[in-house]
Amino acid sequence: MHQPNQEFVTDREVTPIKCPLCESPHIEALNLGRKTGRVIGTATGAAAGVAGTIGGAETGAAIGVVAGPLGVLAGGLIGALIGGVVGAAAGGSVGANVGSYVDDTLLENYHCTTCGHTFGKDAQ
Ligand SMILES: [Zn+2]
Repeated sequence: MHQPNQEFVTDREVTPIKCPLCESPHIEALNLGRKTGRVIGTATGAAAGVAGTIGGAETGAAIGVVAGPLGVLAGGLIGALIGGVVGAAAGGSVGANVGSYVDDTLLENYHCTTCGHTFGKDAQ
């Protein structure tokens, strides 16, 4: 517990990283994996959510039965909608985390704006 303010690199944080070639501190994180992961995760999550909404739609329809035929229709639609939205949000979050891991471990995630050199986390 001697490091209560452990540092995490985020999108907005100015990284104290220097270019391994010209030692310029003007470095930007590309985060390509994170961005790509979020997009893919959102799309996949939405698809999975909609697929999973067969359950949600059924639950909604079952609740709607009490309100009659219109209730079944409305309940099914709401169930499908919620499944898609929740799936997209969860998928985007997971995708961003996976992409972040890829950024940190596999890609040359840093770009020197002074000399144009790109380098990975371990190259500093
Ligand atoms: Zn440089």
